[in-house]
Amino acid sequence: MNGPLPVEIIRQHLIDPEICIRCNTCEETCPVDAITHDGTNYVVKADVCNACMACVPPCPTGAIDNWRNVLKTETYTIDEQYTWDELPAHNASVGAPVETEESSGVAGEAQAAPNAADAPVGGSDMLRGSTVPPWSAARPYVQLYTHKAPTTATVVGNYRLTDDATESDIHHIVLDFGTMPFPVLEGQSIGILPPGATLEGRTHHARQYSIASPRDGERPGYNNVSLTVKRVTRDHSGNATDGVCSNYLCDLKKGDVVTVIGPFGNTFLMPNHPNSHLLMICTGTGSAPMRAMTEYRRRRRLKGATGKLMLFFGARTQQELPYFGPLMNLPKDFIDTNLAFSRTPGQPRRYVQDVMRERAVDVAQLLKDGNTHVYVCGLKGMEDGVLQALQEIAEKHGMGWEALWDRLKREGRLHLETY
Ligand code: NAP
Repeated sequence: MNGPLPVEIIRQHLIDPEICIRCNTCEETCPVDAITHDGTNYVVKADVCNACMACVPPCPTGAIDNWRNVLKTETYTIDEQYTWDELPAHNASVGAPVETEESSGVAGEAQAAPNAADAPVGGSDMLRGSTVPPWSAARPYVQLYTHKAPTTATVVGNYRLTDDATESDIHHIVLDFGTMPFPVLEGQSIGILPPGATLEGRTHHARQYSIASPRDGERPGYNNVSLTVKRVTRDHSGNATDGVCSNYLCDLKKGDVVTVIGPFGNTFLMPNHPNSHLLMICTGTGSAPMRAMTEYRRRRRLKGATGKLMLFFGARTQQELPYFGPLMNLPKDFIDTNLAFSRTPGQPRRYVQDVMRERAVDVAQLLKDGNTHVYVCGLKGMEDGVLQALQEIAEKHGMGWEALWDRLKREGRLHLETY
C-alpha cells in the first residue's frame, strides 16, 4: 500500500529587512556565497545556505538571525525576499515537523532538514577578525531605536574637515539627543534614515556611520555624538553619483533634525583596563572610531591609563586627512602617529601597510604583548594588505602568525571594520 509522501521541512534562513542596515558584513562573511542583495534588501539563497552560522556573530544588528520553518517545496525565493518590507509571519502549520498520518509511526515521517539550531554558534575559522569584544570592554547598549521606532537628534555642528582646495569633502557632524537616552561606546555606529524615497517609491534604508566621539559625548558631559562623513560623488566604478545619505548629512544646517536608529555594534569595542595598548590602523573616514577611542583615552589618561597608542592613518594627501590638525597637536608620548599619503605630488605612493613595515620593530613589540588590541577600519581593500603586513612582521620577529592570529581573534583583540 502506498503511504503519504514524506513531507520535508527546512528551517529557512532569512534577513529582517526592517532591522538590516545593509552594511554588507553578512555577504562578505558567508563562506558559501549564500547571501546577496539588490538595491533594496539583503537576502539568503535557501538552496545554498548550509546554516553554518558564520554570518550571525558579525552582524551588528541581529537582522541576520531569523529563521522560518517552511516546506522545502515552498521556500521563499530571493525574488520574493527582495520585495519584502518586513519578514513573513511564522507559519504555525509548519512550526514543527508536519504531522502526517503516520508521522508518529514509521513511514512518512516528516524530516526537519538542516536545522541551524544544531549548528555551532560563536565563530568560524573563516572569520578574519574577532566576534567577541575585549574582556575589559564596557557593556554596550544596542538597538534602542529601530526603523519602526527611531529617535531624532538635532544638528549642533557641521564642519568641513578637509582643505577647501581638495575635491574630497569630509564633514564632522555633531548630533545632540537632548533628553532622549542614547548611550554609546567608542567603536559603535548609528544608522541615519535619510528623508525621501527611492525611485521605486520605497523609503530609504538606514545608512551606518561609526561614532567619532567618546562615550561621554563630543563635548564631555553632553548627550551628543559626532560622525565623520565623506560626501559621496562617485560610485565604486568611478561614475558620477550623489550619495543619498552622505549628501543629506553634509548639507545639514545647525538646528536641523535627523532621524536616527541604533546604536549598533557589540564587538568592535575598546578595552578598558588601563594598561591595554591600542594598535589602530585606518584609512580616510575609517578614522572615526579611532578618533573616539583616542579621545576617550586622552580624557582618561589623567586618571592613570598607561597603555600605549600606536596609529597608522592613510589618506591620499595631507589636505584630505580628516582631523590632521588636532591629531598633530596630540603629545608624542601619548600617541605614536604614523601617516601614509598615497597621492602626494612628487612622492611615491605609501599605504598604511608600508609604514607598518617601516615600524616593524615597534609593531612586533606590541604584537608580543597580550594587552594589545588591534583595530582596522576603512577601505575594504586595505584588509588584505594590513593582515599581510601583520603576518610578515610577526614572523620576522619569531611569532607564528596562524597561532597569533587565532589567539587575537579568540581573545577579542583583532577587530576589522572595512567597507
Ligand atoms: P579614500 O580617501 O578613498 O582612501 C584613503 C586612503 O586609503 C588613500 O590613501 C587610498 O589610496 C588608500 N588605499 C586605497 N586602497 C588601499 C589598500 N588596498 N590598502 C591600503 N590603503 C589603500 O578613503 P575614504 O573615501 O575616506 O573611504 C574610507 C572607507 O572607510 C570607506 O570605504 C568607508 O565606507 C569606510 N568607513 C567609514 C566609516 C565612517 O564612519 N564614515 C566607518 C567605517 C568605515 P589611493 O586611493 O591613492 O589608492
